[in-house]
Amino acid sequence: MDERQHLPLRRLPANRFRRAESRRGGGPMRTFELTRATSVEAALDALTAGAQAIAGGTELLNWLKEGIEAPARLVDINRLPLDRIEFADDHVRLGALCRMSDVAAHPELAREFPVLVQSLLRAASPQLRNMATLGGNLMQRTRCPYFRADTGLPCNKRVPGSGCSARHGDTTSAAILGWSDDCVATHPSDLAVALAALDAVVVVRGPDGERRIPATSFHRLPGDEPARHNELRSDELITAIEVPRGGTRFSHYLKVRERVSYEFAVVSAAAVVEWDGQTITRARVALGGVAHGPYRMELVGVPLDRLAEVVRLTRARPLPGNEYKVTLAERAAVRAIKEAMS
Ligand SMILES: Cc1cc2nc3c(=O)[nH]c(=O)nc-3n(C[C@H](O)[C@H](O)[C@H](O)COP(=O)(O)OP(=O)(O)OC[C@H]3O[C@@H](n4cnc5c(N)ncnc54)[C@H](O)[C@@H]3O)c2cc1C
Ligand code: SF4
Repeated sequence: MDERQHLPLRRLPANRFRRAESRRGGGPMRTFELTRATSVEAALDALTAGAQAIAGGTELLNWLKEGIEAPARLVDINRLPLDRIEFADDHVRLGALCRMSDVAAHPELAREFPVLVQSLLRAASPQLRNMATLGGNLMQRTRCPYFRADTGLPCNKRVPGSGCSARHGDTTSAAILGWSDDCVATHPSDLAVALAALDAVVVVRGPDGERRIPATSFHRLPGDEPARHNELRSDELITAIEVPRGGTRFSHYLKVRERVSYEFAVVSAAAVVEWDGQTITRARVALGGVAHGPYRMELVGVPLDRLAEVVRLTRARPLPGNEYKVTLAERAAVRAIKEAMS
């Protein structure tokens, strides 16, 4: 296949506009330009001119190798001043370029936002977390096997309008909520699930200034446009994530997966709980592995002894082969709530 690229980013020269070339599988050589931005404005100019941002490179380089992307220009954003963790009175601001491992190792965040830190520690591997950024994590794409495998089978995310092989194919890991006939994929980010339960906000900058997108609506449902994964426009950068403070101490991230580490979630649940001894006064719950983005639920005034009967995914539409996910997700939610209270 001609369109694959393989490029070790760290070996690229630091100068602006050097041309990088790669060859794989004996196909013709493809080139792309790499620039390094030192200000947000310069990065935005590059995006407006058609470049794609690269941060840790742990996702993007895979897309190049797998033929999912073939950008003509990349802009390295690692030198932008977007790697700070700042505590304000009512929120914590996490720079988009914070490495997953730095956020996960922050003792104050671990005390105040257990669900956030647990979601990061249960993602990927230590080596990946050292490179991977928060912004890049939210921008990662589905792990649908048809999307990732370079098989040429129809996939509306890879080739819009080509069809969806998963819809009547292997649906074991597919969505049970919010899917359309054009795409039944789920989103794999653990962090996104925790942020949805925490009512976090994704802060983005574009040529027209700043926008604030609730984490609950950052990822789109597929509808008839499955190639659009989220609400970020191609000329915008994620600059930060803001997490509101207060009521987050009793929180937990539960990840159900096929092996105990270095594996994506089959289903996951993030819970942020407030209770008064006998009654859950408020539980903010988000589910992962069930839809094209986190699925948010809220429980108010639920007696503890009725918890298991109240948590029901009444809107679930399982596909043949993934009915198990409905029960699994409901039980994961209940268990995450209980773990948060313990
Ligand atoms: C083997 C493997 C296992 C993994 N397991 C898990 C897991 O269990 N759970 C989980 O949640 N994740 C997992 N991941 C995903 C991993 O967390 C992401 O690859 C990583 O977070 C991406 O961050 P990055 O900085 O490397 O992004 P890059 O690869 O640099 O970029 C990815 C995308 O994000 C865009 N981007 C990056 N930063 C910004 C920004 N600030 N603004 C706008 N766009 C931006 C890029 O343009 C690109 O489109 C896994 C990845 C791998 C390779
Ligand atoms: S579910 Fe989505 S990503 Fe998977 S094959 Fe269908 S269109 Fe492609």
